[in-house]
Amino acid sequence: MTNREERSGLTDIKSLTLSELAEELTQRGEKAFRAKQIYQWMHVKCARSFDEMTNLSKELREDLKRRYHYTSLKAVRVQESAIDGTKKFLFGLSDGNVVESVWMKYKHGNSVCISSQVGCRMGCRFCASTLDGLERNLLASEMLDQIYAITVLTGERVSNVVVMGTGEPMDNYDNLLTFLRLLTDENGLHISQRNVTVSTCGIVPGIRKLAGEYMQITLALSLHATTDEKRKALMPIANRYSITELMDACAYYFEQTGRRITFEYSLVGGVNDTDEDAQELAALAAPLCCHINLIPVNPIKERDFVQSDKERIQAFKNRLEKRGINVTIRREMGRDIDGACGQLRRKHITDQAEP
Ligand code: SAH
Repeated sequence: MTNREERSGLTDIKSLTLSELAEELTQRGEKAFRAKQIYQWMHVKCARSFDEMTNLSKELREDLKRRYHYTSLKAVRVQESAIDGTKKFLFGLSDGNVVESVWMKYKHGNSVCISSQVGCRMGCRFCASTLDGLERNLLASEMLDQIYAITVLTGERVSNVVVMGTGEPMDNYDNLLTFLRLLTDENGLHISQRNVTVSTCGIVPGIRKLAGEYMQITLALSLHATTDEKRKALMPIANRYSITELMDACAYYFEQTGRRITFEYSLVGGVNDTDEDAQELAALAAPLCCHINLIPVNPIKERDFVQSDKERIQAFKNRLEKRGINVTIRREMGRDIDGACGQLRRKHITDQAEP
């Protein structure tokens, strides 16, 4: 069940919407305004525990502790990049699992990249998050609390959120949706929907379902190859959904939401970075209202993929631009702190295993 914390069996209070919380509390004979107070403590003031909720009586706080699970992630490791100030947080969950989140400072505001699952079962060949498979889904509260904990730890407001950390968000759809609703709720942190991006490896039914929620969030599709054959070699999900189906789903997403699609394309030296690849990518992108984000692949030690060299990346970008495609090369943030998906969590687990 979505709003239950598995080990305690208690309702996960931070995953409840304001109206769900109000219903819970009024059923127990509490005044309706208490729900708003508690909701604000959780979602605006980012309280780390019920004990911080000082305008509630001690009695009520004790009662809440008995009845609800309160998600409060603990930072177990923090790494700061000496190059660009990017911070990578490793957070401990109540069951002992760890997830990682990244805080990036840009001119236009602070951005947090969150994880949506503990591990991942998508199996993308270049990605460190998937090497040990999927452990479990994150609750909505556990996705939110990555942002809340970072807000408290940095003392700075977060304005952009990208669901691009470990995990496949569409493989945890219901919790993702609750998370998105709470994150953008005007009674909560109220992050603008336009400042939220969800990245998927391409689960077509998930894309279509999200389109039907009519939210103003950005969809990012991890494309990484231009033919089904090449994509299958990098991403097992390509065996399930063809590029044609994916492009149809993206066009549908745009039709329903009016939001421009982002295509992520990680450039792997000698694998998907030729002029021909660029031509094919331009042909796929041209009919859609989209933007392409080129990511120099971040090599992980378990695989022998290498980055394309600087000239190749630039030539690839030029080809796309010549065809009128909107394209950027992603700045590599936090390269010195295991910036790539899943690298820090994996290092932490390996370090612990070695006496
Ligand atoms: N599961 C989602 C979101 C997580 S990954 C998805 O697949 O989109 C976020 C992005 O980083 C994806 O585009 C993913 O393919 C890419 N990525 C993962 N590991 C990478 C690496 N080592 N180098 C470059 N890009 C990587």
